Amino acid sequence: MTDRAPAYILALDLGTTGNRAILFNAEGAIVSQAYKELTQYYPQPGWLEHDPRAIWDDTLWAMQTALQKAGVAASAVAAIGMSVQRETCLLWDKTTGRPLHNAIVWQDRRTAPLCNQLAEQGYAAEISDRTGLILDAYFSATKLAWLLEHIQRQQDPPIDLDNVLAGTIDTWILWNLTGGQVHATEHSNASRTMLMNLAEQQWDSKLLKLFGIPGHLMPKIQPSLGLFGYTQPELLGNAIPITAMLGDQQSALFAHGCNHPGLLKCTYGTGCFLIAHTGEQLPLSQNQLLSTIAWTQPEIEREVAGENSLHSRDYKVGYALEGSIFTTGACIQWLRDGMKLITAAADTELMAQRVADNGGVYFVPALSGLGAPHWDMSARGAFFGITGGVQREHIVRSVLEAIAYQVKEVVQAMNQDTSTEIARLKVDGGACQNNFLMQFQADVLGIPVERPKVLDASAQGAAFAAGLAVGFWQDYTALTSSRQIDRVFQPGEGVTQAQGCFPTWLEAVKRAKHWAK
Ligand code: ADP
Repeated sequence: MTDRAPAYILALDLGTTGNRAILFNAEGAIVSQAYKELTQYYPQPGWLEHDPRAIWDDTLWAMQTALQKAGVAASAVAAIGMSVQRETCLLWDKTTGRPLHNAIVWQDRRTAPLCNQLAEQGYAAEISDRTGLILDAYFSATKLAWLLEHIQRQQDPPIDLDNVLAGTIDTWILWNLTGGQVHATEHSNASRTMLMNLAEQQWDSKLLKLFGIPGHLMPKIQPSLGLFGYTQPELLGNAIPITAMLGDQQSALFAHGCNHPGLLKCTYGTGCFLIAHTGEQLPLSQNQLLSTIAWTQPEIEREVAGENSLHSRDYKVGYALEGSIFTTGACIQWLRDGMKLITAAADTELMAQRVADNGGVYFVPALSGLGAPHWDMSARGAFFGITGGVQREHIVRSVLEAIAYQVKEVVQAMNQDTSTEIARLKVDGGACQNNFLMQFQADVLGIPVERPKVLDASAQGAAFAAGLAVGFWQDYTALTSSRQIDRVFQPGEGVTQAQGCFPTWLEAVKRAKHWAK
């Protein structure tokens, strides 16, 4: 194996629910994989943390296990690509590698008061102009500000900030993979921090100052495709180049072949994310959608092989318009772990099908506030319409229906923002395995919903990007169009019922807003 040309790409899919490594062969097919679910810590209502050491340990374990399962040596891997949960961020000690606090997860609402204060001081419009984002606790900036304040308050004597590094999950894992050699991120993740200037694609000094974050803590921003560094040889038995990093949603967009205006996808994971590629023009939404980076890639060949320092305009920028919905699959996890109404996520499909309708029950899935198009950090989850005849099945069904209603709201916003109406929805992600949900989605939207065979589009995107960047593959269009479709859900006999219930759900949402003041 060692003297042959590398025949595999290793993708890391580091999601909110868990961490996975997948080995892809030259045909783009999955050879082996390993996965570990990640513990979610809820220290207070509305707070959510991850243990960064667990993310790194599980990532390393998953990489080693995927290779072992396939009997593949690290020398046979051409490159590693990484797709990560976005916005989640942490601080760590650059000497010991020790995280200074748990990572604050994107769904965490602890910094809502800081956002409200900034809004009252009149900063919302300027932040939006500079970053393309809506002032909200969702993004990393206020989380990093909270972490910095917290660690400085906790430490006696005061912590030496010269010894501290900041980063999102891509940066943390890259730093660990390279044995602390590389502290870098890329544009799609950086565009979600609320600290990157979207037009200039650099850390925005005014925003760093506003949030009290010293610039030297921040990683270097590179294009999403290109050489980031090499794995420490002792980790996997050989040094493997890391040649792509992407936010998970942008990675799925990449996998779907959505690389120009008019193409979009919706991922059903912990949350739902509808993203449309908008080309090289920075998009502006009139309907509370976000402007963000799709991905960036080098435009010119580097003169020195292996050189890692691209100049600021040596890359091509792709922008996107995004509707972010915070809690969709996470509601299913809550039914399992919090309410204990189900034993596995997959149970929800049969339970929902066992009843003819929702029994008058409507669920507002604002477990972490509401994202697009409401952006209400103080909304909280609620059930409406419960009467004595309501059964477990109705509750479960109302939760699945709410996922589809939320997506419909964002599709409507996207239709208003762009000139072409969405005619077909390409989907992926763990929760789109649910046939009831996909059929209900087609019914409530009144358009076909197309589900691919490989649902883990984020991992596939990371593999494709890494393989293309290293020359393992050459043709993006051929690669992405080789993805197979599993099933197309056509709007059917449930259309009248599904669409008829939508206005009542909207009314329920109105009542759940502005709750946690
Ligand atoms: P992420 O990348 O955000 O971690 P995944 O794409 O791995 O998410 O999907 C996991 C999510 O999908 C979990 O929140 C889980 O509850 C949900 N899920 C998985 N299978 C099903 C199913 N059959 N029906 C509904 N939801 C599901």
